[in-house]
Amino acid sequence: MKCRNCNKKIIKFLSLGKLPLGNGFLKKNEISLEKKYDLSVSFCSNCYLVQLIKIVPPARLYGKTFYFPSVFESRLKENKETADYLMKKLNLSKSSSVLEVGCSNGSQLQFFQKAGMKVLGIDPAVNSAKIAHKKGIPVLTNFFNYNLAKALEKEQKLKVDLLIGIHLLNHIAEIEDFLRGVKLLLEPKGTVFFKFYSQRELDIIQHEHIFYFSFLSLRNLFKNANLEMYDAEIKDGIMHIFISHPNVFHVTKRVKNLIDEEINKKFNKLQTYQKFAKNIEKVKKNLIKLLKKLKNQRKRIVAYSASEKGNILLNYCGIGDNYLEYIVDMSKLKQGLYTPGTHLLIYPPQKIYQERPDYLLILSWNITEKIIKQLKDYHDTGGKFIIPLPKIKII
Ligand SMILES: [Zn+2]
Repeated sequence: MKCRNCNKKIIKFLSLGKLPLGNGFLKKNEISLEKKYDLSVSFCSNCYLVQLIKIVPPARLYGKTFYFPSVFESRLKENKETADYLMKKLNLSKSSSVLEVGCSNGSQLQFFQKAGMKVLGIDPAVNSAKIAHKKGIPVLTNFFNYNLAKALEKEQKLKVDLLIGIHLLNHIAEIEDFLRGVKLLLEPKGTVFFKFYSQRELDIIQHEHIFYFSFLSLRNLFKNANLEMYDAEIKDGIMHIFISHPNVFHVTKRVKNLIDEEINKKFNKLQTYQKFAKNIEKVKKNLIKLLKKLKNQRKRIVAYSASEKGNILLNYCGIGDNYLEYIVDMSKLKQGLYTPGTHLLIYPPQKIYQERPDYLLILSWNITEKIIKQLKDYHDTGGKFIIPLPKIKII
């Protein structure tokens, strides 16, 4: 096993076993066809990159994606803010050129185009590219890699002032090749902007995320590609990363502070990750113990929110209809389908109010407070919540 960044030997610290995909919701007739994949994580002591050992073929991962229209609307507002922020921070003008890798339907690029800039998107999904074309945004339907970058540079003389990748970088298996392509297309004073959810605390592991970046590992990753992370921040759990050719911009104090913080937290030590693995095993043991106890007391337990990470947790712990009566989720797209691996039928949340179970196992523990507010009536009338992570809690 070699590191995908530096090619040195990597060490496995956690194995969750063979699990179905966390967002692989099923119709009844699909249950017998369900596939499971190994989910094991390793650490590179040389460049500090945390990465999956085996990866699932992309066609299997992205064959079925769930879209939520409300998410798209809030993203549009977020996309405009991101564009405004970048234009100001990087002093972009009408003569600037912008490339977005993984541009989907162009909902981010359109704001740069409206400001008069030359834009180009690259995305393998044909359907969303069609939507982008209708808006007049040029999109190449392809996977981005070094060869494609080389062809674009040669045939179109493409060089860009800004290259964007949003919720993209932790999905790219051939990351070294990818970054070589990025470097090739970047103008001497250009900036690469990556933005993605921080998973440096290893909240939960999932098949789609090949990498679990810390700022420490990111710095090494870009250095290896002869690029430099000159600015970075973490905002509402999202990492924002600014990269250039080396020694073009002054490296900000923010970068230094983030790196120092991670060294304090020992994100550069294998033991930290081994400790995390031990904690996950402990959560499993304690959660099963708790559910067994409640079941013996004839309590009725229902799972709340068929989230991706929730599904991974249920499968890893072996929690299904042996402990849970059913599961509910707000999303109409998920209701009526079965959860991956555990095959629980997903109901609308109204069922909780009709049947009043004793406990709700919260599977979107990252938004616990919000859920508790939403379910105030249930709680006020004696219903209890089980929060599984980071530490088991009953509220
Ligand atoms: Zn490495």
